[in-house]
Amino acid sequence: MSLSASSLTTLRRQLTSGETSAREIVEDVIAQVSSRDTEVGAFLSFDPEAALAEADQADLSLPLGGLPIGIKDNINVAGQPCTCASQFLKGAYTAPYDATAITHLRAAGAIPFGRTNLDEFAMGSSTENSALQTTQNPAAPGHIPGGSSGGSAAAVAADLIPATLGSDTGGSIRQPASHCGVVGLKPSYGRVSRYGLVAFGSSLDQIGPLTRTVEDAALLLNALAGHDPRDSTSLTNPVPDYTAGIEDGVSGMKLGLPREYFTDGISPLVRERVESAAKTLEGLGAELVEISLPHTEYAVGTYYIIAPAEASSNLSRFDGVRYGNRSENPAEMLSLYKDSREAGFGPEVKRRIILGTYVLSSGYYDAYYLRAQKVRTLIRRDFEQAFEAVDAILTPVAPEPAPKMGDASGDPLKHYLADIFTLSANLAGNCGISVPLEPVGGLPVGLQILGPHLGEQTILRCARAVEASRQS
Ligand code: GLN
Repeated sequence: MSLSASSLTTLRRQLTSGETSAREIVEDVIAQVSSRDTEVGAFLSFDPEAALAEADQADLSLPLGGLPIGIKDNINVAGQPCTCASQFLKGAYTAPYDATAITHLRAAGAIPFGRTNLDEFAMGSSTENSALQTTQNPAAPGHIPGGSSGGSAAAVAADLIPATLGSDTGGSIRQPASHCGVVGLKPSYGRVSRYGLVAFGSSLDQIGPLTRTVEDAALLLNALAGHDPRDSTSLTNPVPDYTAGIEDGVSGMKLGLPREYFTDGISPLVRERVESAAKTLEGLGAELVEISLPHTEYAVGTYYIIAPAEASSNLSRFDGVRYGNRSENPAEMLSLYKDSREAGFGPEVKRRIILGTYVLSSGYYDAYYLRAQKVRTLIRRDFEQAFEAVDAILTPVAPEPAPKMGDASGDPLKHYLADIFTLSANLAGNCGISVPLEPVGGLPVGLQILGPHLGEQTILRCARAVEASRQS
C-alpha cells in the first residue's frame, strides 16, 4: 500500500519506528497527486517545495508530527491562495495568515498540503458549482463526489492523501464523505474555531476532518478543537482525548431511529443499509428506540432562509475594493461594485445573495427571517427532547447514493431537497459523523450518527463500532 493510501495512525506508527520519514510521505503524496489527480480533480493547487521544507522540519514527537493534511480551499493558510473555487478570488488573493484550525494543526506537527476543490464559497452539494474545476467521485467515476467539500472527500477516497479538512454549514463534510466512502465528522458548533474560514453561514459553519478511519477523525479533532479568543462563538469547554474510549463499543447505548427520516423519499436500498447497520449495533448490545423529530420537514425551508441571509451579509465584503478581482475602468463607484460582483460570482452564489437579501429586506424580515429563526428553535428543541431519551441518533446521510454528474443541474431545488437529513444538525448546533456502510451497486453509502451538543465522544464510539463490524 502506498504511504498516501495509509491511515494517519498507521503512518504515525511507521514514523515513530523509523520505517518511513515525513519527507517520504510528502514525496509520495506529491507523486500521487501529480500523476493521478488529473483524473480526479480533487486539488486546485499545491506547493511541493513548501510541503517538503515543512517535512524536513517536522517534529515527530508531536501527535500529528510529519503528517500531510489536505485543506479545503476556503480555509486560510498563510502564503497560499484561497480561492473558494470562485473566479472572484482566483489569482487575486493570497492568505496573509493561518486560520486557527491550521495553527492548531501545525502546533500538533501536521503539514497543511494543497488546496482542495469545493462548490463556490461552499454553496452546493455536488462540487459542480466550483467555478474552477470538476471533481470526480473516485469510487464511481461519472458520479458527483458530493459537496461542498467534494475535493476533500475525493482526495481521501482516491488515496491521494491520508486526510483532509472540510467545512460543514449544512452537510458539506458528512454528505461528500458518504458519497465517496470515507469518514466525515462535523463537530458541534463552537468546538472548532471558525477564525480564518471564509464565512458562509456564520451561525452554522464548522470545520472538521475527512479521513479513512474513525480513529483518524478523532486524532484530528484532538488537534482542531479548543478555545480561540478570535472566534466569539468558540467554546471554552475542555478538550477531551477523542481517541480514548472509541473501542468501548455500544453495549448499553440507546440509539434513536427518527420516524421522519425513514419516509417515502428515501431510496429503498439506502434505507435497507441504514436499517441493517442499526440491527448490527443492536446485536452488539445497543438498544434501538423509535423517536420523533417532528419539525424535520421544515429543516430545508428554514436552512434555505437562514444560510442565504447570512451569506448575503458575509459576501458583501467582496466588493472589488478590498478582496479579489476588480472590474477594469468602472464608470463610477457603484458600477465598480456591480461589475466586480457580476463578473466574479457564479450563478448559485448570486442566487443565494438575492434570496438572502430578499428575506432580510424590510417588509419581509418578519415573514421569512424571523419566522425561520423561530422554527430553528423548534428544531433545536426536537433534538434536546430526543437526547433526553437516547445517546445518539442513526439516520441516512442523503436520500440516494451519489447521482450522476449533471443530473440535477438547472434544478437547484432538487439539490436543496436532498440536504434534508444533514441540515438539522447545523441548525441545532449538534455534532454528526458519516461512516461508510456496504456500497449499493458499487456506490458508497454512509450512516449518519448524530450526537447532542459536545457529544463527539459518543458518536465516535458508535461510528467505530460500525467500522469494526465491517472489518470483522
Ligand atoms: N448543501 C448545502 C448548501 O448548499 C450545505 C453546504 C455546506 O454545508 N457548506 O448550502
